[in-house]
Amino acid sequence: MLNIALFGPPGAGKGTQSEFLISKYKLFYISTGELLRKEMSENTELGKEAKDIIAAGGLVSDEIIVQIIENTIREHPESNGFLFDGFPRTYIQAYILEGLMRKLKTSLTCLISLEVTEEESVSRLLNRGLTSGRSDDNEVVIRNRLKEYYDKTLPVLNFYKDRGICLEINGSSGIEEVHQEIVKLIEKELSKKHLNIVLFGYPGCGRGSQGKALAKTFGLEYIATGPMLEEEIKIGSATGMKIKELYENGQLVPDDIVVPLIEKRLMTSKEVKGFIFKGFPRTLVQSYILDGLLKTQANSMLQIIEIEVPTLELIKRLDARSKTKDCMPYDTSTSKIVQRLAEHETKTVPVIRKYNQQHGVITINGMGTFEDVNKRLSFEIENGLRNMW
Ligand code: AMP
Repeated sequence: MLNIALFGPPGAGKGTQSEFLISKYKLFYISTGELLRKEMSENTELGKEAKDIIAAGGLVSDEIIVQIIENTIREHPESNGFLFDGFPRTYIQAYILEGLMRKLKTSLTCLISLEVTEEESVSRLLNRGLTSGRSDDNEVVIRNRLKEYYDKTLPVLNFYKDRGICLEINGSSGIEEVHQEIVKLIEKELSKKHLNIVLFGYPGCGRGSQGKALAKTFGLEYIATGPMLEEEIKIGSATGMKIKELYENGQLVPDDIVVPLIEKRLMTSKEVKGFIFKGFPRTLVQSYILDGLLKTQANSMLQIIEIEVPTLELIKRLDARSKTKDCMPYDTSTSKIVQRLAEHETKTVPVIRKYNQQHGVITINGMGTFEDVNKRLSFEIENGLRNMW
């Protein structure tokens, strides 16, 4: 989810900028001011309670605000995210927002503060008062609203500065300029998030070819341990020599060789939006290692996908591959193929089970053409990217 709070004194342009942002990012708009005006026009109990305070330019109680916000959020759980305008307005409301976000298993992505001078606020609001029909857009009430802002609302900025998600913008330039600036900051925040995907499935299910194609489509880096080990041999590094020796003796490459290689890739690939892992983790131990490696990435989300293909079809595919130039050393006989399938069953299926308990595993039907399967996978990854916001 992408959750943004627009912050600034009355008249800073929060409402105007909200219009652009909700249509660009398909967010659900929550303006506490508008919600309160609706309650007042419907003459509800909450509306009646809020009426005099709003007319005087004061702040409505946190109890009233929490009720109207919680109801609205609860009614829109399917949304891409929320855009808050005029909330949080007090330190207490900042804590309330944290609690509400946590309930939705999400968090506030950033708070964007539009900075304008007091005199600019007053002149904009007086101007708006000519057409807004809002009884609180007159000079006496405007001054009081601004006083409330400087006394009670401005300190809220520190709450978000402490959490490193407060983005400040000069709100006195033109509407389009401010809009561009906001979009730039949001995109920067979004680019800090990583989507990591682990592709599971029996040998022959298409993990490799789909993984590479998906990495290209979504700007992710494809990490397959097999080719990484071969690359080390090719460049003739000390690790490569050790791997070669193990290969020649028919031994498995141990985790203390594989893990530093993966770690190096994660550390050196700074510009990517995330990784697609294929062939790792293969064992329960490796799954704990991966959890540890990814913990070092701030803002990362893990999506586990299993491509399902019936056993008979897997054998047919691997056998067919053994007759082409793509034949792998482990495709060359039926017994080797069966051994690989059995190895997956005993070592990797428990890893999938573990992930299913921890995160949930998405199962994709791997039958059909490459494009069919690719479409199914892309659909899930697009969902993952949307949830990551
Ligand atoms: P706005 O439309 O955001 O300018 O809000 C109009 C009026 O509604 C404010 O002057 C307050 O009286 C009240 N109000 C709006 N949002 C809040 C809030 N989060 N906390 C307290 N009072 C609010």
